[in-house]
Amino acid sequence: MKKLILKPGREKSLQRRHPWVFSGAIARVDGDPLSGDTLELRSSTGGFLGWGAWSPQSQISARLWDTHERTVVDDAFFRARVEAAVTRRAHLLAGEPREAIRLVHGESDGLPGVTIDRFADWIVVQLTSAGAWRWRDAIVEAVREVTGLEKVFERSDGEVLTLEGLEPRIGPVTPEVEPPERIAIEEAGLVFGVDVRHGHKTGFYLDQRDNRALVRDLATDREVLDCFSYTGGFALNALAGGAASVTAVDASGEALAQLRDHARDNALADDRLSTLEGDVFQALRRFRDQNRKFDLIVLDPPKFAPTQAMAERAARGYKDINLWAMKLLKPDGVLFTFSCSGGVNRGLFQQIVAGAAIDAGVEAYVLHHMTAAADHPVTLTFPEGEYLKGLMLATDR
Ligand code: SAH
Repeated sequence: MKKLILKPGREKSLQRRHPWVFSGAIARVDGDPLSGDTLELRSSTGGFLGWGAWSPQSQISARLWDTHERTVVDDAFFRARVEAAVTRRAHLLAGEPREAIRLVHGESDGLPGVTIDRFADWIVVQLTSAGAWRWRDAIVEAVREVTGLEKVFERSDGEVLTLEGLEPRIGPVTPEVEPPERIAIEEAGLVFGVDVRHGHKTGFYLDQRDNRALVRDLATDREVLDCFSYTGGFALNALAGGAASVTAVDASGEALAQLRDHARDNALADDRLSTLEGDVFQALRRFRDQNRKFDLIVLDPPKFAPTQAMAERAARGYKDINLWAMKLLKPDGVLFTFSCSGGVNRGLFQQIVAGAAIDAGVEAYVLHHMTAAADHPVTLTFPEGEYLKGLMLATDR
């Protein structure tokens, strides 16, 4: 039997159903498991703690599948987990032909290393742990059965994968069934094209769905600045909400080209929209030099701190952009500011933004605490699952 025995006193985390076993907590591993194999997880005194997947290359050496001794980790287990995840979202599933939704959200759906999104009639599967790789076929079969959709694209890449010592795997699961360059999806009446092959994450930032709607509601007649705009999730909503003008800034010319395509596809490509290719840190300073002001600013930067170790550097980055954005706001401005860094928790983020407000000389009021949309649930036993934090702030001077 393949077994992982913890050091004395290190069983608490698994007993609280936290799904990660760090290498430093392990006393020994028996039975020569291969990468991805299922292990019995036991305390130093031999007590059963759970079943987990072996990740020999990672600092997170094992990821929990289940804590019940009688559970069998097999194809049926994955089918049941995928089905449960989809059922949890039943109230969100509109079943529209162009629907876009996250169906499985990793640890928070009891499937560490497994992300599954639906974009119209395509399923995108992202497997980023050794255990998820071991069960690839079962997971793909399960999602096909549960959704009734056949077309599956694998998009296994990203930094977590590298930490697991796995090579990226990108391509359609059935080689002859290729996805179009852009899959047309619809969100709140707007059409977006999702490039599942090259786009960020699995192609689209589904997590910001609800927050984009908030921007749309507040954009009417306002001068809007969308920083880190990517393909225009926020910018398009601001235009649709009747913004007076929208300036979208991103370092990627390709993302901005796609943003302009999206504007055209939605009949919103009018002279209210301008795009600026460049670094947000510099662009904010340039707007300041030009004495440009905005009524509503969105800051949705990439992950500055994927891990806690990088939190300090990230904090400087967040403070900088928030400080400069607040200086650019007109009196009675609104700031939507986000962090998707796992290493920066909500409390720390709010502290950083508060520091920025003091230095910018503005008073800021939290109107909304924002988080990822409901198809990105967070289990209470895995608070790290709450990676997206946002504040909607009203400011005055
Ligand atoms: N708001 C977007 C998602 C933003 S993703 C949405 O809702 O869809 C982060 C974006 O930041 C990426 O498009 C990336 O190209 C861009 N980016 C990263 N670093 C940047 C920088 N220093 N300046 C400008 N853009 C940057």
